[in-house]
Amino acid sequence: MTSDQIDSQYKLCRESFLERIDSIISISDLDEFYLEYLGRKGTTTNLLKLIKEMLPEDKKQYGPIFNKLRTNQEEIINSKREELNQTQGNIDIDLTIPGAILPTGHLHPTTTIIREMNEFFRYLGFSIGEGPELEDVEYNFRRLNLPEGHPATDLQDSLFVKEPQYLMRTHTSSVETRILSEYHDKLPLRVVVPGKCYRNETNSATNTSFFYQYQGFVVDRGITIQHLKDTLTKFHQFLFGDDVKLRFRYKYYPEVSPGMGVDMQCRFCKGSGCSVCKYRGFIEVLGSGMIHYNTMKACDIDPETYTGYAFGMGLDRLVMSKYGIKDIRKLYGGELVYV
Ligand SMILES: [Zn+2]
Repeated sequence: MTSDQIDSQYKLCRESFLERIDSIISISDLDEFYLEYLGRKGTTTNLLKLIKEMLPEDKKQYGPIFNKLRTNQEEIINSKREELNQTQGNIDIDLTIPGAILPTGHLHPTTTIIREMNEFFRYLGFSIGEGPELEDVEYNFRRLNLPEGHPATDLQDSLFVKEPQYLMRTHTSSVETRILSEYHDKLPLRVVVPGKCYRNETNSATNTSFFYQYQGFVVDRGITIQHLKDTLTKFHQFLFGDDVKLRFRYKYYPEVSPGMGVDMQCRFCKGSGCSVCKYRGFIEVLGSGMIHYNTMKACDIDPETYTGYAFGMGLDRLVMSKYGIKDIRKLYGGELVYV
């Protein structure tokens, strides 16, 4: 190869490089460009390979020039890479694109209903109470006028953790006797208690071994059953609307006297009878009554001076009818289907 040929190759390599580098606008193009000139078989690399075959005097002349060309081209590519990194960073981020929506879940339907109910009762001046789920028979049965041997305390129906003293509470009434006992000298009391209760039952579509109850009670001077009826009527109007129809009837519950069962007219058939209400026209929604004389005494409250009412309702059926859930197990299955 003559020195003229070498000169023209050098010139071509240097000038084409400088001409083309300006038109490169992406990092990937720059990577390809780098390989084209400075890769193992690149134009500049090939030029450098020529040095080995040159005569000693040519080596002296061209060696430093070619090496300088390679260094120079590497520097140009590096600064171009930096420039592209900065400008491309700006181009690639579009701050106006909406972010990806991540699933965040929602409140459990039972929680939603409990919060709505708490809101109503707070407005009427009630406090929200709570108590242990692992309970002493003293509060779960005895102080509720359920003496030893009473059929309602049957061991078969309750989940005892340590017989005969400790069990998983079978109703939220246990919190009522705890609060009445603790605050018997700080009357009047108005309290509602949402909470989980347990019973010895096999899970099925309509029953589970645990369930939610919503308990309420008031103790003051001069409380009558009329206060109870009025509160329950207003409460159902709040939840279901002003056209709700309730039916109050006498019913026996050991912890109250007199006891009062409350039925609501079926929302589906408006009382004419359907499969939901089993053709009765009404659905039983809760049990209630005036707190029993014996319960008041067991909690250190003078029943001659004070009277009170109490009510307790199951929440699961309420939630199921509100959200159209047919199988109670779905409520505790963790499926995010019902919003
Ligand atoms: Zn019906």
